[in-house]
Amino acid sequence: MSAEYALEVLNPATEEVVATVPGATAADVDAAVVRATRAQAVWAALAPGDRARLLRRFATAVDEHLEELARLEVREAGHTLGNARWEAGNVRDLFDYAAGGVERLTGRQIPVPGGLDLTILEPLGVVAVIAPWNFPMPIAAWGTAPALAAGNAVLLKPAETTPLTALRLAELALDAGLPEGLFQVLPGHGPVAGTALVDHPGIAKIVFTGSTAVGKQVLARGSALLKRVTLELGGKSPNIVFADADLEAAAAAAPMAFLDNSGQDCCARTRILVQRTAYDRFLDLLAPAIESVLVGDPADENTQMGPLISRSQLERVRSYVDADAPGIRGKAPEGPGFWFPPTVLTEVDPRARVAVEEVFGPVAVVLPFEDEAEAVALANATDYGLAGSIWTRDVGRALRVSQAVRAGNLSVNSHSSVRYWTPFGGFKQSGIGRELGPDALTAFTETKNVFISTEGPAQ
Ligand code: NAD
Repeated sequence: MSAEYALEVLNPATEEVVATVPGATAADVDAAVVRATRAQAVWAALAPGDRARLLRRFATAVDEHLEELARLEVREAGHTLGNARWEAGNVRDLFDYAAGGVERLTGRQIPVPGGLDLTILEPLGVVAVIAPWNFPMPIAAWGTAPALAAGNAVLLKPAETTPLTALRLAELALDAGLPEGLFQVLPGHGPVAGTALVDHPGIAKIVFTGSTAVGKQVLARGSALLKRVTLELGGKSPNIVFADADLEAAAAAAPMAFLDNSGQDCCARTRILVQRTAYDRFLDLLAPAIESVLVGDPADENTQMGPLISRSQLERVRSYVDADAPGIRGKAPEGPGFWFPPTVLTEVDPRARVAVEEVFGPVAVVLPFEDEAEAVALANATDYGLAGSIWTRDVGRALRVSQAVRAGNLSVNSHSSVRYWTPFGGFKQSGIGRELGPDALTAFTETKNVFISTEGPAQ
């Protein structure tokens, strides 16, 4: 690890330095791959039940340190305490769930003439997980838990701004008895440690979560060695409100559907599409809901929204919002910290930057539509396809629109997107592949087909 590539971790709510962490170099990646390759051979040779037990022990260790991990996440990422507790609990649940898959990772027996045909699901070897800063713990675990459960070793590179919870998780994994070298955390810069992982011939798969621009680079570089790549990228998700919906419920749910995690959520419902006949009523209901969101100290139990992650993210968000643009504004603290108020823009051109690009901050636009066809066209008028919500009391419409919207994760009369036991991933430029859900382990295996002849030796 090199001081030259050191990472300074700031508390986004106060701008105080929380820690300085040495960053990994390409040589560190090389050494980590050697250790991981050795550990993977040991790990894959363990009895499935033993691997499952060790993963469950790790899940228990995470549970026992849930409050510590959550408080660390509050300090390094500015997440509200409630969210951070959920995130640490999500890591625990992911490892518990993945542990349940170890003994169930079965191949098939396929009927063939003259013999027996078997498929065997073999681990890939060493997998790299490159994580973003917006959900440092859960997203690290989305890749790591199923990869380990399927018999692989994992090298995790957290984002530059949020390495601390990842480092603590690696310590807990060792304490829980996972073999040395099996799960290593390599904090570092994307262009240094990240590219070294992507280019390394000893790494079989890259699980990348981050921006679409970097995801495309990872795919292009990884293709030189035909690496397996999973990409979870950006989003610009619609929240479609039909006039026949429960408007009170839709308006009450709309704020946190894009303000949760200060809008730094790939599934944030930042395009609120409202049927014209309900438009004025919906805005009347939405305004007080936005204005009453509690923005402030993320360590306070009552806070609903904290700061943005960094100054550069704050500048980026500001660049999308003119001070005099019409809309609804909430409140945010002043002084140190990277604060931006909840913002809903009205009277926006549907082709404007703020209406089509991922802002990754607490900013949404409201756009009116006339009928179902226009709602679907507007929902699909983006390069992204990650998530979306449909609010209606008409079951037929809910199903029609769910089928017509090109996105990986839709919810009806709700904004939920992520459960560790259901599949998650994007259409179009929101990604490639799926994570979570019942097939998560299979994504970390190669299928081998073996034919065994039952013909006797020629007489
Ligand atoms: P980012 O692309 O800048 O960075 C993500 C990770 O990639 C970081 O660890 C970074 O160090 C690393 N990286 C940067 N350059 C690299 C390179 N050239 N090679 C290899 N690795 C490199 O993204 P970010 O700003 O940290 O995260 C925000 C983005 O993540 C948003 O666009 C958001 O929508 C997306 N995201 C997507 C999902 C999803 O599941 N679809 C979930 C969370 C976040």
